[in-house]
Amino acid sequence: MIVTTDHQHTAGDCQQMLTQLNDYVDGELAPALCIELETHMADCENCRVVLDTLGKTIYLVKQLDEEPDELPEDVEQRLFAVLDLEEYLP
Ligand SMILES: [Zn+2]
Repeated sequence: MIVTTDHQHTAGDCQQMLTQLNDYVDGELAPALCIELETHMADCENCRVVLDTLGKTIYLVKQLDEEPDELPEDVEQRLFAVLDLEEYLP
C-alpha cells in the first residue's frame, strides 16, 4: 500500500463523506466521523459546495420553521465554523 502525503481524494472518498452528511447534520454521526468529515470538507472543494448548499438550506428552513430544533447547536456551530457562515447568524 502506498501512502501519499498530498490530499487527493477519490470519488469514493467523496461519495462516502456525502452519505454521512445527513447523519452529520442530524447530529447522529459519531464524533470521530464528524472530525473525519470536517477534515475532508476543509480540503475538498466539491464536498464543501455540497455541504455549503445543504447548510444554507437547513439554515433557511430553520428560519421558517416554528420548531427550530432540527440541528443540534454544537453541530450548527461547527457547521458555521467550517463553512464560514457567520454572516448568516442573526
Ligand atoms: Zn470530497
